Amino acid sequence: MVQKRIFYYVIVFFLSTHICLSQSQTDDNKVFLITLDGLRWQELFSGADSLLVKNKKYVKHPDKLYHWTWASTSVERRSALMPFIWKEVVKMGQIHGNRRLGSKVNLTNDMWFSYPGYNEILTGRADDKNIYSNDKIPNPNETVLEQFAKRYGTSRVAAFGSWDVFDAIVNQERSGIYTNCGFEPSSDFPLTLQEELLNELQRQIPSPWGSVRLDGFTHQFAKAYLKKHQPDLIYISYGETDDFAHNGDYESYLKSAKNTDALIEDLWNYTQKNDYYRDKTTFIITTDHGRGTNPIDSWRSHGKKITGSDQTWFIFFGNGVAPMGELKRESQLYTNQIAATVRMLLRLSQKEGRSYGHPIDLSPNKVD
Ligand SMILES: [Zn+2]
Repeated sequence: MVQKRIFYYVIVFFLSTHICLSQSQTDDNKVFLITLDGLRWQELFSGADSLLVKNKKYVKHPDKLYHWTWASTSVERRSALMPFIWKEVVKMGQIHGNRRLGSKVNLTNDMWFSYPGYNEILTGRADDKNIYSNDKIPNPNETVLEQFAKRYGTSRVAAFGSWDVFDAIVNQERSGIYTNCGFEPSSDFPLTLQEELLNELQRQIPSPWGSVRLDGFTHQFAKAYLKKHQPDLIYISYGETDDFAHNGDYESYLKSAKNTDALIEDLWNYTQKNDYYRDKTTFIITTDHGRGTNPIDSWRSHGKKITGSDQTWFIFFGNGVAPMGELKRESQLYTNQIAATVRMLLRLSQKEGRSYGHPIDLSPNKVD
């Protein structure tokens, strides 16, 4: 009996080490960490909202919008909105946060707006004592990008953001991480012809907002950097979705969601055509906060007073991610687990302390 039990433990031990090895990657694993500012899980999982899609208060061309976004089922609507995620990623990765199926993801910070959300994503811990505004205050906390830079060198990691607060969020000055955000031109000298053109276009094409540029610029600056330096960890933060929502422009909010889906597809296709990245790259996608649903006008906003704006979502695919598709069972994950998961994938040490999230095991049957 005792022998049998020992035999059992030995088997379990070998199986679990095998699972750990197969999912925690080799030394040359790469990570693309991507965020879409304030995209609701409601649109990600169900596509266009029936209460908004023909709402003249929020949509200038209701017939046009209805035509390309509407279908009778949520599965068809979400595929129309984000075709890469729902036709390709769903087959090879994991999509968490469909609360209608019991899969929940929440913020642990109590602010429910951008800087606290990005701090939580990038450091793995809420810090409501120090991060309680969107002011450009250099982050006192070490992000996983900075931790990675200390271990492997600043040249192996970079950050690109549409919002001009990212220099502060990743604490560019202290961390030494190349960060291009807001309306900053590329300063990655010597510039390629493409970067020179992007710098010029960025001056010439006005953004609808004062602190956020259009995502196409962020994307192209990031791609130019990828081609030049092949970083092992890159963070790209798209911003349009949140700003169009604050503007009350549901049509542009949905167009941006669709556009970002295509930008992510473009990045994935780039990695799959590139020897340095192919079969070695894990994509992690999330958002910094949710938005309201009830009353319906609260879709425009978020923050502590807007119920539901602590509800987020995760998408994982690529190297080391078991193809589990859309998670359909009761589960609760938190935004503070993203940094820990990046640390696991890149073999960085985990941070001590109870408020840090634990890594998400991306291997089969072990998501919790
Ligand atoms: Zn916002």
